[in-house]
Amino acid sequence: MRFGFDIDDTLINLREYAFQLYQRKLGREVAIDLFHALNRVEIHELFGLSDKEGSDMWNSVLDELYYTDCPVYPGAVELLQQLDREGHEIFYITARPAEHGENTKTWLKHQGFPVHNERFYCGMKDAEKVHIIEDLQLDYYFDDKPAVVDTLSHGLLKVMVKDQSYNRHVELPRIKQWADLQELIQKELK
Ligand SMILES: [Mg+2]
Repeated sequence: MRFGFDIDDTLINLREYAFQLYQRKLGREVAIDLFHALNRVEIHELFGLSDKEGSDMWNSVLDELYYTDCPVYPGAVELLQQLDREGHEIFYITARPAEHGENTKTWLKHQGFPVHNERFYCGMKDAEKVHIIEDLQLDYYFDDKPAVVDTLSHGLLKVMVKDQSYNRHVELPRIKQWADLQELIQKELK
């Protein structure tokens, strides 16, 4: 089977990592409850930043976010390793800027993710992911962003949403813990 994964906030906990980093950089403590109550992907409003300031802040710390020690969600590496061992094809489809493609692949490999270079796509807008996903004829696709999953017509493709505070309105199968999915997929594949 062919499995497609978004990376940020699907396989790795990037937003919360950014939230912690912003607190250190800006010297401001913000309660984690406020983070968990956000109903949009962007986090800058918690720090009193405008959209423009937030975007500048995000871009100024991008390398630190992407290539240091952002936590991987528990069970994600193990699940993808297992799928890879069993002969399934794993694709990564990320809207990270194209110039971050090579370093992102390297970082993912260091975390233990099975990465085949020819099955890695990056640098597209959220709305363009749909074309790549359709062309790849995936069996499963996982993402956290409503703007992405809303564009996918389901057909044979099984779309699942990684649970986040900003996507609770999305009515799709929902992944809270990767370890749970392992069981669900194994059952379906048998
Ligand atoms: Mg994402």
